[in-house]
Amino acid sequence: MGLNQSILTLKGVGAQVAAKLNKLQIYTLKDMIEHYPREYEDRRKITPIKDSIMDEHNNILVVIASKPQIAKKAGKIIVTFRVKDETGSIYVTFYGQAYMKNNFEVGEKYLLYGKIRRKYAKIEMESPEYEKVTDINHIEQVAKITPIYNATSKLSQKVIRGLIEKSLASCMPFITDYMPASIQRDYQLVDKKYAVMNIHFPKNSQAFFEARKRLVFEELFMLQLALYSLKSDFAKKTLGIKYTTPKTFKLFLEKLPFKLTNAQKHVLKEIMEDMESQTAMNRLVQGDVGSGKTVIAALALFNAIQNGYQTALMAPTEVLAIQHYEFLKELMEPFQIKVALLTGSTTKKQKNELIQDVKGQKIQLIVGTHALIEEQVEIPKLGLVITDEQHRFGVRQRLKLSEKGVTPDVIVMTATPIPRTLALILYGDMDISIINELPPGRQPIKTNAVDSAYHTRIYRFIEKEVQAGRQCYIICPMVEDNAANSDLQNVLDYSYSLKTEVFPTLKVEYLHGKMKPKEKNEVMRRFALGETQILVATTVIEVGVNVPNATVMLIENAERFGLAQLHQLRGRVGRGTYQSYCILVSDSKNKITKKRLKIMEESTDGFVIAETDLKLRGPGEFFGTKQHGLPEMKIANLYTDAKVLKEVQKCVKNILAIDPDLSLEENKLVYDEVIARLEMEELHHAL
Ligand code: ADP
Ligand code: MG
Repeated sequence: MGLNQSILTLKGVGAQVAAKLNKLQIYTLKDMIEHYPREYEDRRKITPIKDSIMDEHNNILVVIASKPQIAKKAGKIIVTFRVKDETGSIYVTFYGQAYMKNNFEVGEKYLLYGKIRRKYAKIEMESPEYEKVTDINHIEQVAKITPIYNATSKLSQKVIRGLIEKSLASCMPFITDYMPASIQRDYQLVDKKYAVMNIHFPKNSQAFFEARKRLVFEELFMLQLALYSLKSDFAKKTLGIKYTTPKTFKLFLEKLPFKLTNAQKHVLKEIMEDMESQTAMNRLVQGDVGSGKTVIAALALFNAIQNGYQTALMAPTEVLAIQHYEFLKELMEPFQIKVALLTGSTTKKQKNELIQDVKGQKIQLIVGTHALIEEQVEIPKLGLVITDEQHRFGVRQRLKLSEKGVTPDVIVMTATPIPRTLALILYGDMDISIINELPPGRQPIKTNAVDSAYHTRIYRFIEKEVQAGRQCYIICPMVEDNAANSDLQNVLDYSYSLKTEVFPTLKVEYLHGKMKPKEKNEVMRRFALGETQILVATTVIEVGVNVPNATVMLIENAERFGLAQLHQLRGRVGRGTYQSYCILVSDSKNKITKKRLKIMEESTDGFVIAETDLKLRGPGEFFGTKQHGLPEMKIANLYTDAKVLKEVQKCVKNILAIDPDLSLEENKLVYDEVIARLEMEELHHAL
């Protein structure tokens, strides 16, 4: 027995249930007990039938008053019976579950939880959750705070709850408390076993708060330590290159197609100061989509190159790498600077040549995807490394590139809105610059959420924009038609029908991740040059691409995307001086979906959007999408647990001051756990 045992060893879990659990990323008993509740319902309060609220969930304590009857309606089996309490009586029905007939005997007491509805002349509770009450004097054993879990359609809350109970029962002895006793005392943390028990089945609200605080603390504590040890080697080598600003710098600035904004100037100044100092720069540049990060990168690269160093710029997608390459080449070549591009689709021959040229220092700037990290790529005089859209890379990938040099300066750029406290944890060793202003002349993007009945109007609008010389993106959630998701728009069918029926006279092309890199590049290039008017794509265009002439972003099945993702997609338009539009199409009737799309209509601020998304969807999904490059948290909410985060930072600082290698006996368990997590991270980002 142990925590890492497969869930198949639990009684009642066979291959079928296991497959469903796997969908929830649950494979072991540990995963099972770390599947923390999404929310709780207080079922301690029991409602008399006469006070129960129609069309809402009610918690009632009843006696079975009639024998369950089976009927068939439209081929479906229905089990119905009557229940009562002192104040009234209602019907209970179960659909498609014939065995329910034998579950309930007249006279038995049950606690039922479910939605009550009026159906024709009857009032009924449909498919309630039920708990048998064997001892009315101990009603608190069933009427309690009840956890609600993320579930799949095929696994009911009752089943998951039962599995959690079983896992807890068999795991309890194996749960180790690796937090040093002194920390538990100083930060008033409850015992681990108590915490695990009460996070699932809290005795009362105080127990819940104590349990949660302990688990949040522990999770953030481990995260902070793991990140610290990943970075510590690097952070120690602070002595770096001392650059001097070249004479040509002013000329380079003047040759830019625009004047820098004040925010850009400010960030540039911070970077230049870092570069001129003797310590190695380690800086995060944060700026919302469209704030103009690329040109800042160009200026820093130019500076390093004119000081005689080689430089590298890494981007998460090929499309973006190519775009950066072309932009930078144009700026650099007049200064006799050689720029090269290395991506996954560079041919072997080209690649070998390129590797030789970089090694021989014939190339001063190498732009590429994570192909840059490969071992064969040696950059002997690497002086500056920039990672764009850093949130798409793992910490380790970022470090790998800078390790190619001795102590190169490092800039990472991201559009992710990270609250300051959080940035301190994730990028604790970095200085942070923020571009908090958009270039002038930008008009706020107009956003509308509509349903698919608007398509005719939308197409007419697109046609008008195209006639005015503009271009349009259309995003579909799927690449091709697929039986499981036939209700979702797909790129291939959509672009075909646009070409043949809707816009036969316009130039329509499509782009998706399954295409060959070369094709992708060609399509993107034609769109960037304005040869194509409408680009139907998947989210491959989500990061970074820049086509200022595009003014319409139409997103189909908008309910399928996270808000942060919609914000990034919307950031593809409104990059020039033209009024731009974002149209979100969704037929979803879901309340939360509607709220989310409404936020998009109301706000264009990445911070506001990210936080709202978090509130509406919960941290699991928000961070799970990897949109934010934040580590996936099981329980901590990186936005709202800021207070605990601060305590953790203090705590970690104290520990490391006394025991920097975690070699003391009392920190041994913590040390082992950190190592185990780092190995996981390594596997995760294995190339
Ligand atoms: P992001 O921060 O999203 O990476 P980019 O660097 O791609 O943004 O810049 C977005 C657009 O704004 C580009 O077309 C770029 O040329 C333009 N741009 C950047 N800085 C300025 C500026 N100071 N004035 C006018 N346009 C600018
Ligand atoms: Mg960018």
